[in-house]
Parts: sequence; C-alpha cells; structure tokens
Amino acid sequence: MRQREKIKIKTPREINLMKESGNVLAACHDMLAAHCRPGVTTKELDRLAEEFIRSHGGVPTFLGYGGFPGTICISINDEVVHGIPGPRLIKEGDIVSIDCGVTLNGWVSDSARTHIVGEVPPAVRKLVEVTKECLYLGIAQARAGKFIRDIGLAVQKHAEANNFGVVRVLVGHGVGRQMHEPPQVPNYDTGMKGPQLKEGMVLAIEPMINLGTFNVCQLDDGWTYVTADHQPSAHWEHTVAITSGEAKILTDGLD
Ligand code: MG
Ligand code: MG
Repeated sequence: MRQREKIKIKTPREINLMKESGNVLAACHDMLAAHCRPGVTTKELDRLAEEFIRSHGGVPTFLGYGGFPGTICISINDEVVHGIPGPRLIKEGDIVSIDCGVTLNGWVSDSARTHIVGEVPPAVRKLVEVTKECLYLGIAQARAGKFIRDIGLAVQKHAEANNFGVVRVLVGHGVGRQMHEPPQVPNYDTGMKGPQLKEGMVLAIEPMINLGTFNVCQLDDGWTYVTADHQPSAHWEHTVAITSGEAKILTDGLD
C-alpha cells in the first residue's frame, strides 16, 4: 500500500494532455476491436497495437514495464489480467480482455475492454455487460467530496447483486506521468474510507469481475492471473479525472 504517498493533483492543462493520450488509446482499442476475431493470434493484436501507438506519436506504456514483454495485456476466458501476447489463437466463443496503456508527451492513459467473440453462453455475456456497468457505476461515484471507498462499494454492490465475484488482489490506481500512482482504488469494500476525492485527481477505475469465485492465482509465467475455479473473468477500465461535477472520462475517445 502506498496510501501515505501524496496524491498528485493535475492542472486543467495536464488533464488536457492526458485526454490527448487517452484519445490515442481509445482509437487503438477501436482498431483492436475490429481485429479481435477468430483466427488472429494475440501476438498479432499486440503488434498492431504497438504500430498504432507509435504511428500516433505515443509510446506503449506496458512494454518493458516491470519487464512485461507486450504492448497489450490480453487475457482470455479464465485469465483475469496480465496475459502475455503470444501464438495463442482467438477463437469463436472466447471473451478477450485487452488492457493497454499509452504514454503521449509524458502523460499516461490506461484502459481495458472485454470483447465477446461470436456466440457465448448468456451467463458469460451477462458477466461482460455487468462488469462494464460496474465500471460506469464506479465512475459515477468518482466525484469531488466522495471517498475512494464509494467507488468500490458501488462496483461490489452491482457485481454481487448478480452473484459475480469481485477480484480483491488487483486494484485500480492513480495515473499521471506514471502508470501507477497513489491512491489504490479497490473494487470492493476494504472497510476503510480511503482518501477523499478532489478536483484534479486522475484515477484508473478497473473492475475485474469473475463469473464464480473472486479468488485468483498467478501462473508460473510470472504475469498471468487466472480465476481459481477457471470460470471466465471480465475487465473494463477507464482513466478518469475528478472535476467539480461528473468525472471526465479521458479514455473514451469522446469530446
Ligand atoms: Mg489497464
Ligand atoms: Mg490500470
């Protein structure tokens, strides 16, 4: 926990720069969505993402971060997050979570989407939809005067009302010049209010929701997390700025 470290407040100009970074990331995700089809390898999607980000003047934030070997984290079905791109083929019936980060002019943006490839069972489709709803319910709590806890409470309430498991060991975070800044942003109620939200804070809110148990384990590749019961998991994430009103989503490609 790094909660004692000071949370950096961004100026409106800095938030605009982060929005520019987020716009490249949103466009990259749109491009990847169009290519996330049966028969493509995860490595090919990674290559497309790196090429896209560099051609837009950005740097792939994840590449080399802690030694991570890819531009995207790509996590399929029971993989929760931090999946490594490689020769694996996307196939019909997969759910594919793609997490990506862009550094543009020194400012980081971070977001994730989960794609449904073809037909999946209704419960799996619902998992993906509810996880996205959890993200937006969390964002709705991200307002000046609220506390970090309010975000996790909103996410957990909606996920558990649908009998899904909320991942505990991985959390959202502050974003800025670094991908991971204080504060941590849990998706569940830790029992602590955490820091109060103030205008100019920028957070990555990122619910990771499992069809079954919330427990996860890490594979011996040192990166990939999978669900302990091997049921599917979904992940949605936006980088958002706290304003005097509703949070401004920096990674939706809008505005
Ligand atoms: Mg991310
Ligand atoms: Mg993140």
